[in-house]
Amino acid sequence: MTARPAPYLDELNPAQRAAVEALEGPVLMLAGAGTGKTKALTARIVHLLTTGSARPNEILSVTFTNKAAREMKTRVGRMLGEAVEGMPWLGTFHAICVKLLRRHAELVGLKSNFTILDTDDQIRLLKQLIALNNIDDKRWPARMLSGIIDGWKNRAWTPDKVPAAEASAYNNRGTELYDQYQVRLRELNAVDFGDLLLHMVTIFQTHEDVLQQYQRWFRYILVDEYQDTNVAQYLWLRLLAGAHRNICCVGDDDQSIYGWRGAEVGNILRFEKDFPGAKVVRLEQNYRSTPHILAAASGVIRGNEGRLGKELWTEAQEGEKVRLIGHWDGEEEARWIGDEIEAMQRGTRGQRPYTLDDMAILVRASHQMRAFEDRFLTIGLPYRVIGGPRFYERLEIRDAMAYFRLVVSPEDDLAFERIVNTPKRGLGDKAQQTIQIAARENGVPLIEGARICVEEGRITGKGAGQLRALVEHLARWGRMTGDADIPHTELAEMVLDESGYTAMWQNDKTPEAPGRLENLKELVKALEQFENLQGFLEHVSLIMDNETETDGAKVSIMTLHAAKGLEFPAVFLPGWEDGLFPSQRSMDESGLKGLEEERRLAYVGITRAEEVCTISFAGNRRVFGQWQSALPSRFIDELPEDHVEVLTPPGLYGGGYGAAGMQPATSTLHDRAAEANVYNSPGWRRMQARQTTRPLSQPRESRGQVIDLEAVSAYTVGDRVFHQKFGYGAITGIEGDKLDIAFDKAGAKKVVAKFVMGADD
Ligand code: ATP
Ligand code: MG
Repeated sequence: MTARPAPYLDELNPAQRAAVEALEGPVLMLAGAGTGKTKALTARIVHLLTTGSARPNEILSVTFTNKAAREMKTRVGRMLGEAVEGMPWLGTFHAICVKLLRRHAELVGLKSNFTILDTDDQIRLLKQLIALNNIDDKRWPARMLSGIIDGWKNRAWTPDKVPAAEASAYNNRGTELYDQYQVRLRELNAVDFGDLLLHMVTIFQTHEDVLQQYQRWFRYILVDEYQDTNVAQYLWLRLLAGAHRNICCVGDDDQSIYGWRGAEVGNILRFEKDFPGAKVVRLEQNYRSTPHILAAASGVIRGNEGRLGKELWTEAQEGEKVRLIGHWDGEEEARWIGDEIEAMQRGTRGQRPYTLDDMAILVRASHQMRAFEDRFLTIGLPYRVIGGPRFYERLEIRDAMAYFRLVVSPEDDLAFERIVNTPKRGLGDKAQQTIQIAARENGVPLIEGARICVEEGRITGKGAGQLRALVEHLARWGRMTGDADIPHTELAEMVLDESGYTAMWQNDKTPEAPGRLENLKELVKALEQFENLQGFLEHVSLIMDNETETDGAKVSIMTLHAAKGLEFPAVFLPGWEDGLFPSQRSMDESGLKGLEEERRLAYVGITRAEEVCTISFAGNRRVFGQWQSALPSRFIDELPEDHVEVLTPPGLYGGGYGAAGMQPATSTLHDRAAEANVYNSPGWRRMQARQTTRPLSQPRESRGQVIDLEAVSAYTVGDRVFHQKFGYGAITGIEGDKLDIAFDKAGAKKVVAKFVMGADD
């Protein structure tokens, strides 16, 4: 039968097609941004499935983020024209390794329900070890040690494999503490992120039978963003692909941006050596961006040395030049971008209208996000934050999660330590030490130690009764996890209520408390999508993006790192200032390595844009509470002038954009942008006036606005609201600051307005 080429092959160019159809043997696709590497990889999966070469569970495909994995699954489904019945091994290195490690945990001395520690827990644990070893953690901070250990794990060094050359690390004690740390992790039945790979590599290296089992199982291996794999990941892949060599890796050396986390761009350059006879495919046509955007990106990346040097071309229409604009400070930058987004939605200035989903703000550092979030909340512009564990990093979420962890794994001592006196139960340091001692004496987890203390009356006073209650609660909740009649969401709510945790925030009078309660509600909402608490906890520890799934279009805010592989019609790149982007650290470093990685990050940023790319910078910025003035980024000077248009904010020189509003040209782009937009801007004048009347650290206008909005009663009759005690209800009458509310469960009540919040259930 000579069938027509399948539609998914029709959509590819000859080079892509060659890479897709070469199913047997090693394939390396090395090509620049937007040339269709990920598309080809996706088509390869479809090809494997449609030709019957492999079943979904025989394909191991590694993506860099969970989001990318989800997208790839959706696309495979779409190309197949039917839903894929699960691609169980399509995910990030970490997600795949968690699954594998749960099956073989006992081979590295763990139980299969091990906990995955986050950075905070890791640091806390290291602090304890540092104290036990009588080391001065002021001089030798735990963070330093955690950085060293992470680095070793990324290189796949177990404590016994750390080379002698590293012996001086952490004041000569590094290796020894690393060893102790691993022992302690085992006792806690816990792993950190780096362990997920390290343990799997260890298992594969020491258990030939297990390795062979997976070599047979994963008949085809595909890896996206190969340039960002670290040594442990690389070894893991090489072991798995060692027998059949059916491995297809795609990447771009110009987009290697995880060197700081141990990624080795050398892996991609070494591929042909590791897999002799590999088919190497190069792609040069870019299907994503306009020529101006491509030219700007190429102009910047040209500054790096030792590149493989790829030239990209496109058939796309010329489009708009890359836009460059300067602002007085970060708040003004956020305000302008907010306005600009709204203007672009309306399709003003001769552009087509863009939806919010079409637009993204890519920041260098996550602290930049705050200004945008504040601004967008103020003007009611829907946004989502992608890529940072932001939501799950919040204090109240971490506390709540510690409770959940403890319910699922009672031996999770770190979780126990976190919550034993949160809310306050009169169990201070002394009581906690008593518990620790009891646990150690009996070789049991802390929770068990606590029970012993209660039974033997070792803890007296106010805390005793409270501890008894906690121990009993935890035991009961633990039993409930096995009870099919109690949904895990209900259990979660019960845990938060009965522990007194919710009440703690209800009684808290600080301005953050209502937001924290909102977040706890959000957390329980997030749980609904999972089958049980354990699945949820796993998801959270792996999470790389945290969108709360609500309907409607939203602007995306994320770090440049998280934006890898993604594309948007319109992209904003704020904060192009020396010291922020490139980062201060990369500028302080001797040598060019750090700076070159920052430049690749700039290349990644610009190449995310399809049609409109707007770069901006601010003359002043508040970083961790300190005002700093900054110079426009050196990367701005590297933008090829012919492909850049300098914008002037409206209202300046009679308003309007582009040349009409511009200052006479001076030497460089950044001088011009700086002069046109910063030193002559209304913000500059306002700021000068402000400086004489008010110190810079005072709250800014935009902050004030938020508070004002909250002060006026935002409710009208008929609104749905939520009350901490009475639950959901609808407003039936308003009298000053008192509301009459018909609660769904509690009936009619009169309550004070400030104790309810709007609900959109
Ligand atoms: P990055 O390096 O940024 O990850 P990439 O090389 O993975 O980029 P893709 O994301 O696969 O590139 O593709 C970029 C865009 O080009 C996508 O919108 C994709 O659908 C489109 N594209 C890829 N190949 C083709 C093709 N042969 N014909 C038309 N469009 C294509
Ligand atoms: Mg890609």
